[in-house]
Amino acid sequence: AFLQGITCICDNGRTLEDHRPIVGDDVISEIYRKAAVLQGKRVLHVNSTYQSGGVAEMILSLVPLMNDVGIETEWKIITGHSDFFTITKNFHNALQGQRIAFSDREKSVYVTTNQEFSTVLKIDHDLVVIHDPQPLPLINFYEKKQPWIWRCHIDLSRPDHDLWKFLQDYVELYDGMIISHEDYRRASLAKEQRIIRPAIDPLSEKNRDLSEEEIDGLLERYGVPIDKPLITQISRFDKWKDPVGVLEVFKIVREKVDCRLVLCGSMAPDDPEGWMIYRQVEEAAGDLIESGDLILLTAEDHLLVNALQRVSVVVLQKSLKEGFGLTVTEALWKGRPVIAGRVGGIPLQIQDGETGYLVDPTDIHECADRVLRILEDPKLGERMGAAGKEYVRQNFLITRLLTNYLDMLTSELG
Ligand code: UDP
Repeated sequence: AFLQGITCICDNGRTLEDHRPIVGDDVISEIYRKAAVLQGKRVLHVNSTYQSGGVAEMILSLVPLMNDVGIETEWKIITGHSDFFTITKNFHNALQGQRIAFSDREKSVYVTTNQEFSTVLKIDHDLVVIHDPQPLPLINFYEKKQPWIWRCHIDLSRPDHDLWKFLQDYVELYDGMIISHEDYRRASLAKEQRIIRPAIDPLSEKNRDLSEEEIDGLLERYGVPIDKPLITQISRFDKWKDPVGVLEVFKIVREKVDCRLVLCGSMAPDDPEGWMIYRQVEEAAGDLIESGDLILLTAEDHLLVNALQRVSVVVLQKSLKEGFGLTVTEALWKGRPVIAGRVGGIPLQIQDGETGYLVDPTDIHECADRVLRILEDPKLGERMGAAGKEYVRQNFLITRLLTNYLDMLTSELG
């Protein structure tokens, strides 16, 4: 039963109409118009986790909206033994540029897990969207009767050459690929490579407005005092998110301004490295945890993330590599200034000096300097946050993502 996969029921009770007050009539009318020619079409999304991470976050919000506008959309999760996820996490690392060699046995576990999953997953939809490398080889095990699209959320600007060569054979079987950034295009691939930027759902628990009481209740429950300015990074404990580097930045900052750092990262079922990185942070923390100046949280709680982003004076996303980094947009939507690495999809979201700061993520002093600028001038942070929120409204809300999907469906199903 373990390898049967998971079917996600994702009716969240929200409809497209709920977005009208946020994005306005024109956006909503355009979506209905585009959806009209696609009524009754059946779409399947497959990925490898229903929680913790940007991919699940987006599918969770997108699927109910697609259903609401008349596209019958299902969401399935590939399951596997722990070695499958260890291997695919290493794939992820290698695609983001780490040099890792993979044995034939590892490649075989990867492909066999997909083959086993194919025996329990019936696919008779009009279009299939496969997310990220975990379920990529599935296509090999079906008689293909519909367009298949591979949606890669990873920073593919410098993938490990050998691994990419291995995966590319599978990607070639697809009708097209979706990436988040121009820089992720693969010249070796004779395929349509469509760019779709990720987006957030302004009505989800993660992003909806919260009352003061709700915020206070959440902070109390998780033991986060706000007697000092709060700096936050919301990220899985992952080396590319560089939580140890964030801690180093914090150590420099607090020599000048008394403040508190929260690192909030839930443990994703498809990410086996989380606890190892968590322990590295603990070791680097010295007595900061005991003194309460560093708070580490691992709960999976969207309302907690929402509350933390809202009460932070500044939000960090000091990633060394980042496919997109939804957390940046999430924090901007809450009117907070964001200081983040100038890598991957992050510069798409932050206008340097206007809605936050882009920094060289390997330069902890530059990052600390930008944090201090905002800590020492709270009005600057407020101005940046307000500008950031409007930028998100125009560019990174789920209604725009839905529009992109409808366009893709129309062009594929013609
Ligand atoms: N997230 C969360 N709880 C956590 C850490 C992260 O809910 O403790 C969410 C975060 O709010 C965001 C997603 O996981 O929606 C992370 O997406 P992002 O694109 O930033 O990075 P990824 O994890 O996909 O690499």
